[in-house]
Amino acid sequence: MLRVADTAIGVDVGGTRIRVARIARGGSLGGTLQDRVSEPVQQDRDGFSAQIIRLINAARNDSCRAVGIGIPGRIDGAAQTIESAGYIDVAGMDLPTMIARETGLPTRIENDAMMALVAEGNARPEGATGLIMMLTVGTGIGGATLENGTPWYGGGISGQFGHIVVSADGPLCNCGRVGCVETLSSGTALGQLITKAGLPDTIRAEEIHARALAGDDAASDLLNEWARPFLRAIETLISVADPRLVIIGGGLGVDMTRALERLPRQDKWFNVPIEMALLGDDAGVIGAGLCALSAHAATQSE
Ligand SMILES: [Zn+2]
Repeated sequence: MLRVADTAIGVDVGGTRIRVARIARGGSLGGTLQDRVSEPVQQDRDGFSAQIIRLINAARNDSCRAVGIGIPGRIDGAAQTIESAGYIDVAGMDLPTMIARETGLPTRIENDAMMALVAEGNARPEGATGLIMMLTVGTGIGGATLENGTPWYGGGISGQFGHIVVSADGPLCNCGRVGCVETLSSGTALGQLITKAGLPDTIRAEEIHARALAGDDAASDLLNEWARPFLRAIETLISVADPRLVIIGGGLGVDMTRALERLPRQDKWFNVPIEMALLGDDAGVIGAGLCALSAHAATQSE
């Protein structure tokens, strides 16, 4: 039986930072976060392994039953394998077995966007009913799909929404093709647009929004150029999967949602609600903990 007081360690591995916290079920947003720590992520394999075990052991207490880890990249959630992981050198590594061996806690991995979506679905009053899709905007663009609360993996690694092609002659992408939405609407792409516009590279997206609101045409154009390919990608997702809801999260989720609100929506074929993430950047670590608690509960009831 899963006791009310049980917690899990949630780990959110980002391209630049790793966050760890104890997560309990409950609270107004479906999960509560205790003793969160965040530090720059070690990108080499040995450094990363030592770091993640140290952080899990520092965060755990007697209430901890399991570990959940969200990882950016191509993670096969069904097979629990890492196909590729962006900037972190952990491809092919059997992380769940290694963490379980070193900490004694059963461990589950998912794509980081899937972890965020689990938390977001859980946080909404109507719950994770129906088909819900999420796009995360950070250094790159990630994605995930939940069907009635259950992760949908396709053949294994579904969720590579950053590689929806939105321009036939766009920039070259890491995946080897051109014009993927990640090359035009990620945080990296926003940085390139800022440089192209001659703005200081320290300017924050929030400030560009403020300038656009104040009537600065260059700022408006920049935001539109950043968000338009993203809206095209969302419309493609809608045409393929017809979700009930599309959620926008990640470090730049708020800024992208505000930029999308400036654009005209096609009101007939593609009229699905697009909502900002409720949990902001904490969604990944909360979802990782909730996933671990669910997996633990499933093994207890077998
Ligand atoms: Zn691509």
